[in-house]
Amino acid sequence: MKKIIALLLATAMCVMTLTACGASKETMKEGVLVVGTNLAFPPFEMVDDNGNPDGFDVKLIEAIADKMGLKVEWQDMEFGALVAAIGTKIDASIAAMTITDERKKTVDFSTPYYTAVQYIVLPENSDIKTAEDLKNKTIGVQLGTTGDYAAQEIEGATVSAYDKAVYAVNDLLNGKVDCVIVDQGPATVFQNNNPGLVAVSGVEFDFATEDYGIALPKGSPLVEKVNKALEEVIADGTYDKLFNEYLATVEE
Ligand code: GLN
Repeated sequence: MKKIIALLLATAMCVMTLTACGASKETMKEGVLVVGTNLAFPPFEMVDDNGNPDGFDVKLIEAIADKMGLKVEWQDMEFGALVAAIGTKIDASIAAMTITDERKKTVDFSTPYYTAVQYIVLPENSDIKTAEDLKNKTIGVQLGTTGDYAAQEIEGATVSAYDKAVYAVNDLLNGKVDCVIVDQGPATVFQNNNPGLVAVSGVEFDFATEDYGIALPKGSPLVEKVNKALEEVIADGTYDKLFNEYLATVEE
């Protein structure tokens, strides 16, 4: 009788916690990597003509998951909600996310997979030419991004934060903001899609470069596995293929 009760208890514990029952607790669903992103940051993450996730990050993590024997399930959310969702709603996030000390308090990052810098998107005839000129301007950014944090450091600047970078660009076109600070990749896409707008490298505005990483739950065994799979994806040429397909056009 005691044995039966012990067995029942063990089964109940397995059901309740989904741990230590043989099934791996590394991902929320067996065989699946639930990945969160914000599908509004081309060319890293966007939707294709059929409404499916597409972009460099999308294809990169799908290749990584494949090496790990996992299928990717996508969760599209606001960028600012991603970090808090890791380990609860999602297993991982790939979202052109810069590795920062602040974020590292909450999540672990994979080894960096891309280096970027903030760009300034401006009307062609803008008088903003140097870091000095950004002072006291109205600046559009995407909420909770490194562009947002950089803008907040600028003396006298009024920062307008939007859920999506493209909304900031719309207000730039409407004349409601003087410029938009956003990562190099989308900045270049916005320039290419909008005659009259130019994207200028933030290096000329004293912005430091930033490394993108895949965010994972703190202390998770997934970190090592993702890093190993990333190495494999680089070694077998997949990374370069994706780079040429999605990023070659946004590189200088
Ligand atoms: N790289 C920026 C950041 O990490 C922006 C990322 C994004 O908006 N998807 O804050």
